[in-house]
Amino acid sequence: MDPTTGLVRIGAGTRLHELSRLLDEHGLAMPNLGDINVQSAAGAISTATHGTGRNLGNLATTVESIELVKADGSIVELDSGDDLRAARVSVGALGVITAYTLRTVPSFRLHLQREKIPLTQVLAELDERVDSNDHFEFFAFPHARDALTKTTNRTEEPANPSGRIVEYFNEVIVENHVLGALSTMGRRWPSQIPRLNRAVTALASSGSLIDASHRVFSSPRLVRITETEWAVPREACADLVREIQAETDRQGFAVNIPFEVRFVAADDASLLSPSFGRETAYVAVHMYEGMPWKPYFETVQRIAGEYGGRPHWGKRHSLSAADLAGRYPEWDTFQEVRRAYDPDGVFANDHIRRIFGA
Ligand SMILES: Cc1cc2nc3c(=O)[nH]c(=O)nc-3n(C[C@H](O)[C@H](O)[C@H](O)COP(=O)(O)OP(=O)(O)OC[C@H]3O[C@@H](n4cnc5c(N)ncnc54)[C@H](O)[C@@H]3O)c2cc1C
Repeated sequence: MDPTTGLVRIGAGTRLHELSRLLDEHGLAMPNLGDINVQSAAGAISTATHGTGRNLGNLATTVESIELVKADGSIVELDSGDDLRAARVSVGALGVITAYTLRTVPSFRLHLQREKIPLTQVLAELDERVDSNDHFEFFAFPHARDALTKTTNRTEEPANPSGRIVEYFNEVIVENHVLGALSTMGRRWPSQIPRLNRAVTALASSGSLIDASHRVFSSPRLVRITETEWAVPREACADLVREIQAETDRQGFAVNIPFEVRFVAADDASLLSPSFGRETAYVAVHMYEGMPWKPYFETVQRIAGEYGGRPHWGKRHSLSAADLAGRYPEWDTFQEVRRAYDPDGVFANDHIRRIFGA
């Protein structure tokens, strides 16, 4: 690592929590991170994993160069041009990434504030909340009136250990153990789900925490869920959320895990970035394990599609190459690079053939 430039070289299999720990020891940090930190750097970056923050791109935007093993066994270093822009977010289709050079930032502390606010109010004040904070996101259950917001800003204030206790209650007790227990009850008695959702929302408390950025961004996720997530133009966010809520009620889907809404800066660093060329809102919906998710996810996919939605590359969707091509302005450039790097489809599997073509 070079502390003066913030450039660091890492093995592609490095876990994000390990990366954050190593960076912290040297006064550096990732500019933004997602909800969890157990992924490999390559798995997270190759799927454009993201956090929230209107001025912050997904993790792939921090990639300065990539070492990649091609299908013919040769090793290349990609540090510019369309090859790099294709490889940053490539879902494993171009070759095996073995190392990254990442651009990091000086370490910083964050002040996290949680609030419980009516969802209608959050949607009405969305632009103001997103624009006036470094990181803003919210969660809400279908069938519950209130949303839970997380607003996070950089601070020079010292870490406050008492905030950690309230956060522990929210993150570990409510978001994991209480949610897990009520989700199990909801799976058994689906008609009770609206009441259970309101109960878990009522339990979540407001709170505030100051700590090192990487300890604020990511938290434990112990409830087993499945998920689909859609990147839409930011200005479509409120309408998309309202439509998903209305359709969830209309079709009577029993959903006992909250949906999550986050914001990501536009980028053109990766040809297949879901936030390519547009400020983006990500809307993620979830289903508890063992419950029917297909009709709900298909409905959300259809509605997101009406807003030009692009799926998260690491989560469920059923689109094929033919559907996806029209949603990515530089799709053909990616396909040219893919043909050059893996002409015989060594790195193709059923999933890759579906999303990128044979
Ligand atoms: C509980 C939970 C919370 C999550 N939170 C978020 C979140 O906040 N934000 C968000 O955006 N996403 C989130 N995700 C999604 C997650 O970041 C992605 O699914 C990520 O890809 C998982 O990383 P992994 O190391 O398990 O990758 P894998 O599943 O192993 O791989 C993912 C993809 O990357 C490719 N890949 C992996 N390693 C290499 C390599 N060395 N070379 C080339 N290609 C490679 C694989 O081929 C595959 O296509 C979450 C997922 C879960 C389960």
